[in-house]
Amino acid sequence: MGKRKSRAKPPTKKKIKVDTCFTCPFCNHAGTVECDMDKKHMIGVALCYICKESYSTTIHGLSEPIDVYSEWIDECERVNKFED
Ligand SMILES: [Zn+2]
Repeated sequence: MGKRKSRAKPPTKKKIKVDTCFTCPFCNHAGTVECDMDKKHMIGVALCYICKESYSTTIHGLSEPIDVYSEWIDECERVNKFED
């Protein structure tokens, strides 16, 4: 499996708020994307509360919000490539 994981995490030295807020790939607002990890149903949802764009994907027990977010980014990049 070619899943890159180790480099996905930003270097957080101090705990600044929660690490579930990310920059929205659609409206580019920083910290407006929140990831909700529903481990009961194994679904991770990333949602921007500014533009209401959202992305959901299946997660597993060790998934973290950053994993959902980076999958969303990958998805966006794929879509962008198709549109070019
Ligand atoms: Zn947004």
